[in-house]
Amino acid sequence: TDSRGIRTGPDNSPLQIFVKAKKKINDIFVEIEDYVKDTVEYMHEIEKEQKIVNDEKVKQTEEFINKVHGIRDVLCRDHMKVAFFGRTSNGKSSVINAMLRDKILPSGIGHTTNCFLQVEGTTTDEPYLVQEGSTEHCAVESVGQLAHALCKEKLSESTLVKVYWPKNRCLLLRDDVVFVDSPGVDVTPNLDEWIDKHCLDADVFVLVANAESTLMVTEKNFFHKVSMRLSKPNIFILNNRWDASATEPEFLDEVRRQHQERAIDFLVKELKKPRKESFFISAKEVLQARLAEQDQKVSTPLTDGFQTRYFEFQDFERKFEECISKSAVKTKFEQHSQRGKFIASELRNILDGIYNDALKLKEEKLKQRKELNDKINYTEQQLLIITQEMKKKIHTMVEDVEQRVSKALNE
Ligand code: GDP
Repeated sequence: TDSRGIRTGPDNSPLQIFVKAKKKINDIFVEIEDYVKDTVEYMHEIEKEQKIVNDEKVKQTEEFINKVHGIRDVLCRDHMKVAFFGRTSNGKSSVINAMLRDKILPSGIGHTTNCFLQVEGTTTDEPYLVQEGSTEHCAVESVGQLAHALCKEKLSESTLVKVYWPKNRCLLLRDDVVFVDSPGVDVTPNLDEWIDKHCLDADVFVLVANAESTLMVTEKNFFHKVSMRLSKPNIFILNNRWDASATEPEFLDEVRRQHQERAIDFLVKELKKPRKESFFISAKEVLQARLAEQDQKVSTPLTDGFQTRYFEFQDFERKFEECISKSAVKTKFEQHSQRGKFIASELRNILDGIYNDALKLKEEKLKQRKELNDKINYTEQQLLIITQEMKKKIHTMVEDVEQRVSKALNE
């Protein structure tokens, strides 16, 4: 790790499953592209000399080049996406900041997220944001500025603002995880629109609940809708603000048991998910602790039970990384590999076709040659017979003439 606590050395993060799979599948498509190009070149060559490839087959193969290009384009943009939901002020932005180990999103009173905010990595050195429907890069130097930029515009709550954050400042962003923060599920009647616009390609959903209250109908309602649209959504439930429990230790276990039961009931019985846990955490503390690791001016939180909550947050992060990585590999790359296989088998069919046509042509030519040979043999034989007969005839003629001549002479 470097001085900011960011992992830089050999990487055993479960996110590498996705990162490596992405690299591997991309390498395979580079090879497929080579094969397709070679095939097209070969077809052009033999097209000039022989009549075994028709134009249609050449065109079909040339189209594969565009297809492979298209897939490689999408592949470059493929990422793992996690979407955060919950009621306003439950701490969604704080959880994201804690995971990213930096105050990237504005949080707190007056900074309610009033549109969708997507954070993703960029290779540039400086962060910037791009509003929906625009290509303009707006520089953001600080969280305050970002909050200001977002408040200044009257944005509709389902608008998406993309925040591009330098990859070299954050491992999760470097590994292609994209974070989406949402306005509170309590502020909009447009849940369906939200789901269609921002959730259909999410690999993991995180419900940030408030440990100080029970799961709300609006929060449950939202996930019921998600479950109806997506066949198997991966959902994690975080009971945030668990630090508040430190002030009432006598109720701690009881409250935890109640929350856990309700969360699991909701997941297993209502959403039919096999998950058996929810996490009791304090995003605010984790962020504070991580900032303190990087910068001595911020002090580590000292509330009772902090270590336990911090470990539980790390446990969540590990399970989250495993889940998102595996899910994204499956949903994103399965399709690509099917297409890759299809192109490879089509290419094979086309080449097999050319090979068979070439064989047929060869057989035909051989047959022609054999027929010609047979004809020549026959004629040769005929000639032989004729010459032999002629020879015989001439021989007898000569003998006959000789006899006659000698007879005449004698006489
Ligand atoms: P959002 O609206 O869901 O994105 O919530 P924010 O992340 O903006 O948090 C709202 C307020 O709750 C902020 O003032 C945070 O500092 C505070 N907050 C967030 N997480 C915690 C926590 O775990 N414990 C406590 N005590 N406060 C928190």
